[in-house]
Formats: sequence, structure tokens, C-alpha cells
Amino acid sequence: MAGVLLRRCQELGRRFPHCLVTAQTLPCRLKSSKPDVSVHPPGEGSAHSPLDTFTDEEIMIRDMVRKFAQEKVAPLVKSMDANSKMENSVIEGMFELGLMGVEVDPSYGGTGASFISSILVIEELARVDAAVSVTCDIQNTLINALFTRLGTEEQKDFYLPRLCKDLLGSFCLSEAESGSDAFSLRTTATKQKDYYVINGSKMWISNSEQAGIFLVMANANQSAGYKGITCFIVPRDTEGFHIGKKEDKMGLRASSTCSLTFDNVKVPESSILGQFGHGYKYAIEMLNEGRIGISAQMLGLAQGCFDNTIPYTKQRIQFGKRIFDFQGMQHQISQVATQLEAARLLTYNAARLRVAGKPFKKEACMAKYFSSEVACLTTSKCMEWMGGVGFTKDYPIEKYYRDAKIGTIYEGTSNIQLSTIAKFIEKEY
Ligand SMILES: Cc1cc2nc3c(=O)[nH]c(=O)nc-3n(C[C@H](O)[C@H](O)[C@H](O)COP(=O)(O)OP(=O)(O)OC[C@H]3O[C@@H](n4cnc5c(N)ncnc54)[C@H](O)[C@@H]3O)c2cc1C
Repeated sequence: MAGVLLRRCQELGRRFPHCLVTAQTLPCRLKSSKPDVSVHPPGEGSAHSPLDTFTDEEIMIRDMVRKFAQEKVAPLVKSMDANSKMENSVIEGMFELGLMGVEVDPSYGGTGASFISSILVIEELARVDAAVSVTCDIQNTLINALFTRLGTEEQKDFYLPRLCKDLLGSFCLSEAESGSDAFSLRTTATKQKDYYVINGSKMWISNSEQAGIFLVMANANQSAGYKGITCFIVPRDTEGFHIGKKEDKMGLRASSTCSLTFDNVKVPESSILGQFGHGYKYAIEMLNEGRIGISAQMLGLAQGCFDNTIPYTKQRIQFGKRIFDFQGMQHQISQVATQLEAARLLTYNAARLRVAGKPFKKEACMAKYFSSEVACLTTSKCMEWMGGVGFTKDYPIEKYYRDAKIGTIYEGTSNIQLSTIAKFIEKEY
């Protein structure tokens, strides 16, 4: 088993630029509160291993992303945030490293790694920039996952190699009138001969400035209510399809969020992804998994903020002492560190349940809800611990603080997570 994994790592190593595969240590600015994990290939006593036990391959991918984030993303974070613009070099870098097709089978040009690897990639990117992380998250946990599971052989052959190489995708469910109540969406698809005509609009669509392909939920049989919702593949250059202006957001500014309009957009019948009328099921299923990704994003963000703050508390002197030495500070820092650890365990546990094929929806909601709350708490506390400088743009804390809030909103607000958790609890008693 170990030999197989080692070979797989070597195969992966060939895929990545050598300079990025050799990452071993992390600059202290990004020092995790946790020691490096031990290596246990699955099946070799891993049943009772700690949740943060990873395979050689997962560790290699995590370390590679850590190095990429530090060397290629970190120098651009501030300007990308200020300009509300993701640098092409960052997106290209993620494609080049195989981060945009983590789980996609190598026969389609993907990296062929595990779901856990995807989670680690999202977490590591978010430690440096949550906006970069969400771009990668959507591609892996929503777009690639939908194509892989639902695509016909032709659709997979055509789209997956591109999605792994240079094609960014957007997931289009929300509309101005339907957010939490997603299945009340009003975009329609009307059948005419062997094609459909899509009319309507979408809002808040991530990656849409750069995306080349859009997975659009539209109702193709309104008399069936939400059971008419169908998933359509809409290429960017389709006639009648317009991408609106970018939202001017508080956080996650480098990630583009635009509205879309569909004005008699004609797509062939062959652009339905999966089954007619099953779009609502696919959206629910994908968002269940996607929530683990957002949980990992929030976890990474919180850890990154913490890592940038603690060294300051050990250097800053007040009343003749390091501020870290005040018991009032130590207790707060320890409380946040404990919350971070709990968020990490919830995230990894939800991911492992999903990999094991066990029920994971409640745990995914809990992880997403909790990690989002912890990210808001951590970033707020870190700003307080830094004092005045934490409130300035000279330090990255205020950006982490602004970025954290989105975790409580997208892929289901915190209220929606809590309502879903309550449904499970009701059934259990
Ligand atoms: C930066 C960003 C990126 C996004 N990216 C995408 C994307 O790529 N694709 C996509 O399809 N969508 C995307 N979204 C949309 C996002 O998923 C929605 O904003 C979210 O689902 C909430 O919908 P809403 O904004 O309409 O809020 P509303 O649904 O109007 O909610 C407002 C408030 O009411 C509460 N509420 C609503 N219903 C209930 C209820 N039943 N019980 C208790 N409380 C309730 C909510 O919790 C919230 O507090 C994005 C949003 C943002 C801000």
C-alpha cells in the first residue's frame, strides 16, 4: 500500500513544477498552531487514528499548496483586494499545479487525488487568501463534481480536460428573488424542437468575470414546481447571455461576483447536465458537500489570521511586559485556539464521513456553521489583540476580518444550516 502511494506521489511530483514540490517548512508567519501530522496510509491502523492523519499524497499536496500560496499568492493579496481583481497568474498557477482538478481522474487530465486533498487545498489557500480559496473551492466541489457525477461520456470528454487545464466554471443557482428559498427560482427554460430557450437572471455568481462555462439552474417545467428545475451547461459566448457588472463587496474582493442575464439564450438539448427535472436534487447534493469546502475555507482563514497575530503579541511590550504574558490575553488566546481546533475536527470529520460513504449532511452543516462563527470570532479577537495597528491596512488582519463574514452567508446562511441541523435532530428523537 505504502509503495503504491509513494509511486502516486512521484507521479504527482512529475506533474508539478519541482520548485513547488520540495516545500518542507513554512515561514513562521504562517506557522500552524498544530504540529505536522503523522503519516498513516488508509487501512494500516488508520481506523483509530487522529482526524488530522493524512496519506503521503495528501501531505505532499498540502505542502505544495502551502508553498504556492506563500510564494505566488501572498505577494499579490493586498493589491488584488485593493483592486478587486484576481491576477491571472494566480488562476494560471492553480491550473498548472493541478489544483483545479484535484479529484478529477487523470484520464481526463485531473490530479486524481482524494476529497480530503481538495479540503486541504481549500484550507491552505484560505490561510493566505480566502478569495483565491473560493475560486478553487467552487471549481472542485461544485463544477468538477457535477460534471464527473452527472456528465455523459461526451460531456465529460469535452469539459473535464478543459476544466482541469484552463476553463473556469460558475455555479448559478441564486437569483434576486430566490436566495435561501433557492427553489423558487424564476429563470425558465422552454423547449423548442431540439433546443431550449433560457430566459431570466441570476445574482451573486462567483467566478463569473473569468468563467468560460456556467452551470445554470432553470425551471424547464413550471407546472411541476421545483421538480422542473434542470441544470444546463451554458458556454460564456452563447448569444443572449450577458454578464453584469461586478459587485463592490466588503470582503472576498478579488473573487468576482456578478449578476447574469439570459435573454432568449438558445442551448441544445444535449446541454442538459444529468436528468431533466433533477436540478434541485443536484443542487442540494452538491451544496451538502460544498459546505465542507466552505468550512475548510473558514478554518484556513481563521488559522491564517491567528498565525499572523500571535507573533505580534509576543513582541509588543506594554507595562514592561509582552502583551502575550498577561493572563487576560492568554485566556482569550487559548479560548480561540480551542475553538479553532474544534472547527478543524468538525471539518475533517465531515470530510471523512463523506469519503467513507456514511451520512454526513448534518455534520457538514455543523462544520460550516461552526467554522464560519469561529472565523468571525477569531478575526475579531485578533484585531483586538493587535490594538490600533490591527485596524489598519498595514497588517492583514482587517482583510481576514472582512473576508470572514461571507462564511455565514453563502452556500446556505447560518440560519439555514441551523434549520437543517434541527431537521436531523427532530428525526433522531
Ligand atoms: C460573495 C457571494 C458569492 C456568492 N456566490 C454564489 C454563487 O457562486 N452561486 C450562487 O448560486 N449563489 C451565490 N451566492 C448567493 C448566496 O448563496 C446567497 O446570498 C445566500 O444563499 C443567501 O441568500 P440571500 O442573499 O437572498 O439572503 P436571504 O435568503 O434573503 O436571507 C436574508 C436573511 O434571512 C434569513 N432567512 C431566510 N430564510 C430563512 C428561514 N427559512 N429561516 C430562518 N432565517 C431565514 C437568512 O438566514 C438571512 O439571515 C453568493 C453570495 C455572495 C454574497
